[in-house]
Amino acid sequence: MEINLISDTVTKPSKEMLNAMLEAKVGDDVFKEDPTVNELEDKVAKIFGMDSALFFPSGTMTNQTAIKLHTSPGDQLICDKYAHVYNYEGGGVSFNSGVSCKLINGERGMFNNNQLIQAINPPDFYHSPKSSLVCIENTTNKGGGACWDLKDLELIRKTCSENNLAYHLDGARIWNAMIKKNQSPKDYGLLFDSISVCLSKGLGCPSGSVLVGSKDLINRALRVRKVLGGGMRQVGYLAACGIYALDNNFSRLSDDHQRALEIEKSLKNLSYIKKVEPVETNIVIFEIDSNVSSHLFLEKLKDKGVKIISMGDNKLRIVTHLDYTVDMHDSFLNILNKLSF
Ligand SMILES: *Cc1c(COP(=O)(O)O)cnc(C)c1O
Repeated sequence: MEINLISDTVTKPSKEMLNAMLEAKVGDDVFKEDPTVNELEDKVAKIFGMDSALFFPSGTMTNQTAIKLHTSPGDQLICDKYAHVYNYEGGGVSFNSGVSCKLINGERGMFNNNQLIQAINPPDFYHSPKSSLVCIENTTNKGGGACWDLKDLELIRKTCSENNLAYHLDGARIWNAMIKKNQSPKDYGLLFDSISVCLSKGLGCPSGSVLVGSKDLINRALRVRKVLGGGMRQVGYLAACGIYALDNNFSRLSDDHQRALEIEKSLKNLSYIKKVEPVETNIVIFEIDSNVSSHLFLEKLKDKGVKIISMGDNKLRIVTHLDYTVDMHDSFLNILNKLSF
């Protein structure tokens, strides 16, 4: 049995999802004539209680589009040092928008309002880049799936408003955060100027992200998506997966969280594991003792048919997901418990 835990993006569409694709009514979405894409966009905008939404091929493109819309070349955005927009989008922040990042030294990818206030450049001090945007990530990827408290996000909203900063949420795994913290998507819709969500992470779609915001922002996003080459034609087939996933694969995310907790427990029993980050959602980040190479650990797991990935610095990552079944889980815990060096 092959057990792939490198990411929650490794899922394949189920029979039911493939059926939803087969039955989708499609049209040319570049002319906004794909009824299924229009339905998905309306659905996601309503879920967050915001005006409008736009379907994109990837979460990188939704984030990059939002950054482009909220900044001018030379500006600076503020984010945590672990942020996906800074670490994992190929330098797109500077390539696409000509902006730099002010990094906050937060905890597990999260920071507080006081740290943000410290990071804002004075608007009339023309020697420094102009601070124009704050990017939040929830759940945090490199931070090990940690989730923000709404209270902190509200304080930051206030600071953004007082300092004329736009407020963007990279919500690639916002679904996991809402399940974990029992929050409503409308809470997020009220706070942020733009929200990016992925359908291809925990929800099990093969591709697709959605950018949500005001009518004006989304109208302008249409042009940026075009410039980035993200206009797709009969893409209702993918949007149909998104609709199916939102209706069927959201509440089961708690299963992924439960399995991640059980993996955390097993890891903590292994003498050669130095530290396991506290598990909140579906991501487990842990560190191996420096006298056991993480490379060897990865190899041993691979021999047993289990794939996980390295995050550098002897840190490894496991992500649970829709296609990680109870049988695989039992088998994996068994393999872990028996692994020795
Ligand atoms: C996966 C991810 C994205 C975007 O991913 P794509 O692979 O481009 O769809 C953005 N932010 C975070 C936090 C992510 O984990």
